[in-house]
Amino acid sequence: MIERVILAKPRGFCAGVVMAIQAVERAARSEDRPVTVYHSIVHNHTVVERLAEEYGVHFVEDLNAVDALPAGGDTVIFSAHGVSPAVRQRARELGLSSIDATCPLVTKVHTEARKYAREGYTVLLIGDSARHQEVLGTSGEAPEQTILVGVLGKSGPGLHDPYTVSVPDPQRLVVLTQTTLSVDDTRRTIEILKARFPALVIPPSEDLCYATKNRQDEVKRIAPAVDAFLVLTSTHSSNGMRLLELAGAECGRAYRLETGADLDALNLEGVRTVGITSAASTPDDLVQDVVARLRALNPALIVSEEGEWEHIEFRQPRKLGPNDAPIRVQQ
Ligand code: SF4
Repeated sequence: MIERVILAKPRGFCAGVVMAIQAVERAARSEDRPVTVYHSIVHNHTVVERLAEEYGVHFVEDLNAVDALPAGGDTVIFSAHGVSPAVRQRARELGLSSIDATCPLVTKVHTEARKYAREGYTVLLIGDSARHQEVLGTSGEAPEQTILVGVLGKSGPGLHDPYTVSVPDPQRLVVLTQTTLSVDDTRRTIEILKARFPALVIPPSEDLCYATKNRQDEVKRIAPAVDAFLVLTSTHSSNGMRLLELAGAECGRAYRLETGADLDALNLEGVRTVGITSAASTPDDLVQDVVARLRALNPALIVSEEGEWEHIEFRQPRKLGPNDAPIRVQQ
């Protein structure tokens, strides 16, 4: 019988996700044709399904598909994960207007990649998958000068091992990272690279974002007090899956839920206190639904929240024409 639930704060939407979803909603309300989003606007199935159902938003993985969509669409929105210059260029060639919903913290990493590449550095970009949209976008800033490195202990196609990666010039080397990795594993990976390449430049402000760090910190803080953790995340959410791994490592039992319906399949035998957190792209009503279901099964359930909410907001992006000139969007 579950007696207590501890909800982690912060959890769920970060400022970048709020900005990106609002950008899509705003465009969908103001455009007279359905808007198209390049890639999932954020990595959560429920968010994407709701935008498709409520606003008729189309999601494409290839800009050439925009023209082929039945309802057409001359505005494309770039997702929170960012895109490479090649994707922006293709949008211009297709005559598409664009709204860039890239999180400013991802844009910061793109700016660093361009700066160091211009200065002749090789960029070691630490990521958790060579196919992750953010990694594709950042590495696309300087593809010839970027080498992808896997986070410690993880490998995959296209990712080099930090222990064996070779570089053209160890004296002109910088390390950048995906924004949503494991804080601890990223630190260790950078330590290995620094030990191998002492001249490695580590930019003064790290690339892991505040939302990633804060959610991981809170899981670590709560884990000793709970018997199991429930983590609401889609499997393609990098920050969410890192929370799941961390929760499992810290408290020994962690379960992923896409929605509250997944509770039915869980065996929570022996669990009296449960921690709950969610990815930066998971809507909080899904968390509230899990709590309601647990309460229905355990009427005396005590629910508390621990930690602090974040108070960060990002500005809405402007709409740009195919020539990059700003276009006014009706509210
Ligand atoms: Fe931006 Fe971090 Fe949120 Fe990604 S998880 S959208 S980098 S704030």
